[in-house]
Formats: sequence, structure tokens, C-alpha cells
Amino acid sequence: MQFIDLKAQYRTLQEKIDNRIKTVLSHGGFIMGPEVYELEERLAEFAGTKYAIGCANGTDALQLSLMALGVKPGDAVFCPTFTFFATAEVIALCGATPVFVDSELSTFNMCPQDLDKKIKTILEQEELTPKAVIAVDLFGLPANYPELQKIIEKYDLLLIEDAAQGFGGEINGKRAGSFGDIATTSFFPAKPLGCYGDGGAIFTSNDELASIVKSLRVHGKGSDKYDNVRVGVNSRLDTIQAAILLEKLQVFPEEIKLRNKVADKYTLALSSLYSTPQVPDEMVSSWAQYTLTVSSRDAMIDKLSVANIPSMVYYRTCMHEQTAFKHLGKENAECPQAEALAKQVVSLPMHPYLSDEEIDKVTSVLAE
Ligand SMILES: *Cc1c(COP(=O)(O)O)cnc(C)c1O
Repeated sequence: MQFIDLKAQYRTLQEKIDNRIKTVLSHGGFIMGPEVYELEERLAEFAGTKYAIGCANGTDALQLSLMALGVKPGDAVFCPTFTFFATAEVIALCGATPVFVDSELSTFNMCPQDLDKKIKTILEQEELTPKAVIAVDLFGLPANYPELQKIIEKYDLLLIEDAAQGFGGEINGKRAGSFGDIATTSFFPAKPLGCYGDGGAIFTSNDELASIVKSLRVHGKGSDKYDNVRVGVNSRLDTIQAAILLEKLQVFPEEIKLRNKVADKYTLALSSLYSTPQVPDEMVSSWAQYTLTVSSRDAMIDKLSVANIPSMVYYRTCMHEQTAFKHLGKENAECPQAEALAKQVVSLPMHPYLSDEEIDKVTSVLAE
């Protein structure tokens, strides 16, 4: 059994993907070829935004977004402490200071009450300027945008949605990638919508932000090819990856349904025995991960491993406890719930092609 079975997906799409790659090889437009622009249109349609802009990976997508929003030294950018490192890393890369926010035990996502508290603290300290919030759609579940939005408006901050894991999720029919001033996703192979290498995208409906991001991803280019108008980066989405994603995006809505069926089967079998993941009624998760919280995690991992069932721990260490961020001090990083989660979470095999037999095997080992 695979934790994420990319080969099973490839088997169902092989002919189409191979043909797409061959087309790129024959037209030779490897950088910013027609597939990139076609994919950007399809992605924007899917997310319900005016623009989708391809880039090299999900980390660059976040960095480009912060650069476009003008995040700079002296700014405080709030993000969850229980997330993948990239979310916080890009804040420091822009010279700003990450301020870590606690998580909700029930959804694993940023806790709105704690966000409010952390913003107040930073305002009282009068050292940093609260500028933006990066909310993460952790494990596929959209963050609580209705509540977060109220706080962001109250303090007049900017909102970035990190939908690296959440692309394909929804709140009341509105899709991930459309929340906030700007949103990002990753096409790393293991993400819900993955390619066969690195890739990422930025989503916005703001004309000015879109044009800045398009310039930034190509060295800050202006309308004259030989006059760069700002300092940018080199972060384009490869044409071959765009070609692969065009085929994968076709089956993506169906795959989200399949992921939800797998999650429902896990929950039906396990909810009386374990603390299973909660999805609020108005939300759809893209189930990047199916994550249990258990007090005897190591014993569970051993039990699964003896039965040849892979499992993973996302994430064992909160951002405020990582070596790279320890110098920020604990003062602004009181996150007891996230620390508890880091000790208890364990993720089970999850992908759209998981068979009933495989699901039964996992749940029966866990029920023993
Ligand atoms: C994977 C991930 C990223 C970074 O994406 P890459 O394409 O690997 O750079 C950022 N944020 C979150 C929450 C992620 O899971």
C-alpha cells in the first residue's frame, strides 16, 4: 500500500499525459509555452478568480505574493505555527517578522481568537507594524475565512491564503484559491493537484497585484524587454509541467469526490475509536491528508508499520520551536494547542485510488 499512489493516477491518465508531453517536445516552447497560458486560464476559472499566475513552486508563490503586497522589514506577518516551514520562511525571506498563531484542535487550522490576541499584543508592543496574515488550508480543509476576515478588516490587514494543501476545497461553494487578497498553491507531486516536478500558482482578482506578480516572476520585467522596472526573481512554471497539469485538472473534481469517499469510509469505521478529523458543514476538504489525533502515537505507527501500512507525521515540530525561528523568542509564540497537536497527529494513507480492501485493512488494524 502506498501513502500517496502517484502511479495509480498515472495509469489512468497515461495516454493523455504522454501525448501532452510529446506536444511540448515537438513545439519546443519549454519556457512560457502555450500550455502555461492555457493552464492559467483553466486554473482561474476553477478557483473563481480573475487571474491565476503560474510560478516555479508553492514557496515562490508565497514569496511573490508577499513581495507584491510590499511586505518589508519592520512588518509583522501572522501565520499558524502548525504548518509546513515554507509558510513562515517566506515572511523572514522578505525581511519581515513572522508572528505565530495557535491552532484549533478540531480543525488543525489557525485559531481566529488567538489571531486577534496576537495582533493586539504586537500593537501594544509598538515595535512591529501588523501588515498581513497568511492563513493555511491545512490538510485540505479551508481555514475559517468568515471569522478570519472579520479580524483582518478590524485591523485593516492584508490576507494571503496558502492553499498548497487546500486547492480543491470549498466554503459554501466558493473555492480555495479565492479567499483573501491573494492566494497561492503548490503543484508538488504529493499535493492534491500535483505535477511531475515542482510547480506553483498565485491567484488574485486584483488587476494591480496580478500585474506586479507577472513582472516579479520574470526578473521584474517592464513592458520594454530591456528595461526591468523592479527587482524580481526567476520563477516560471515549466511548460511540460503545465501540460501535465492540464490533463490532471480535468479529472481533479472527480478525484476530490473520490478523496471524500475515502475520508468518509475512514471516519465511519474509526470515529467511535479515535478522534477523527472534523469538516464544518459549510466546507469541503480536498483531503491532502487524513489525520488522527492520538495520545499513543508511536504505538499506533508501530502497529501500522508491522502490517505494512505507511503513515506520516505532519508536523512533529511547530514553527516557533524550529531552530531557525527560536531566536524570535517564546513571547509572541504562545501556542499550547498547536504544541499538543504536534505531539499527537498521525496521517493515514490518502489518495483518490485507495481501494476498499486497502481502507478495510487500515481500519481493521486500527480497530484491533
Ligand atoms: C507544500 C507546501 C508549501 C510549499 O510548496 P512547494 O511547492 O513545496 O514549495 C507551502 N505551504 C504549505 C502549507 C505546503 O504544504
